[in-house]
Amino acid sequence: MATVRYPGTGKNLVEAGMVDDNMRIDGMKVSFSLIFEKPTDPFIKSVVRAAETAVLTYVSPEVDIKGNISVRTLQEAAPKPGKLLSQVRNIVGISSGKGGVGKSTVTANLAVALTKLGFRVGLLDADIFGPSIPKMFQVEDARPYAERIDGRDQIIPIEKYGVKILSIGFFVDPDQATLWRGGMASNALRQLIGEANWGELDYFLIDLPPGTSDIHLTIVQTLALTGVVVVSTPQPVALADARKGINMFTNEKVNVPILGLVENMAWFTPEELPDNRYYIFGRDGAKKLAEEMNVPLLGQIPIVQGIRESGDEGTPVALDANTPMGKQFLLLANSLVRQVDRRNIEQPPTHIVEVH
Ligand code: ADP
Repeated sequence: MATVRYPGTGKNLVEAGMVDDNMRIDGMKVSFSLIFEKPTDPFIKSVVRAAETAVLTYVSPEVDIKGNISVRTLQEAAPKPGKLLSQVRNIVGISSGKGGVGKSTVTANLAVALTKLGFRVGLLDADIFGPSIPKMFQVEDARPYAERIDGRDQIIPIEKYGVKILSIGFFVDPDQATLWRGGMASNALRQLIGEANWGELDYFLIDLPPGTSDIHLTIVQTLALTGVVVVSTPQPVALADARKGINMFTNEKVNVPILGLVENMAWFTPEELPDNRYYIFGRDGAKKLAEEMNVPLLGQIPIVQGIRESGDEGTPVALDANTPMGKQFLLLANSLVRQVDRRNIEQPPTHIVEVH
């Protein structure tokens, strides 16, 4: 399908995300759907014909494909939010305006801290441009396998420190990640969400790519998100981008609640001068942004050498709840839980399917 171009955009069908994942191969009979935005798309007939020809040319002239390519509209093809992750209570996206502000560090530590509070936690690393969760959990070499469960092949998440993990990094060569086009990355993520055996979870955290992208739209269209946490440093350039991110999520078309802001790298305290605070990236920038945009400030995390080191070693500081940093992340997890509970009281989740 990558050899067939959609004349509307010039992209190939795979790139454009137009090939549905419902392909069936039964002997020589192949059937699948192509997804078009509107049922009135003028290119439907010619694209379906080109797709048939491509199968006959590149697979085999023997393939029974004529009449077996059906057409679906985007609306029909999109999984209804609520159908996916039906055994997950709260789905929380972690985002940032720009890269390098500590989004993945905060996500990894939040995930571990939530398990310390007794919750069942899943973590999806959707940061296509720099999937760092495998490193932060020391599972870079893990290769998740699929198992046949209830008649379906399902990917089994890797479990580490009590957190169920899947990362786009398990499936993509990191050097190739930036070459991935929107449609391909979005399809891969849909699979990691819909075709993995996540089981029952209290919290499903998604480490989103920085900024605003197709991936964000895929996630908000695919899942009923409880809300989003935005991570920023207090630096004005980071805050400007964080503000853009907040506006994207609260835009009436997207309409995802902001659960709160996390100010990371809020200050630096040298070990030998424990009472001194140096505001390297500026002071209280995210705190002020939270006040201005009327969103909760979930916490302020200082710059600590141990946070960086433990991230690189794959042992998040939150693993030891008795250390000052461990406690800090427990407090952060606590404020997240409070905000999520508040949301759920105001607007009970609609996507939970109670199993009796
Ligand atoms: P992002 O996911 O936003 O790109 P990362 O979580 O990968 O950012 O963090 C970028 C770098 O900064 C990493 O090397 C990480 O270890 C380090 N880092 C993040 N937060 C802190 C912190 N509070 N103190 C010290 N180093 C930090």
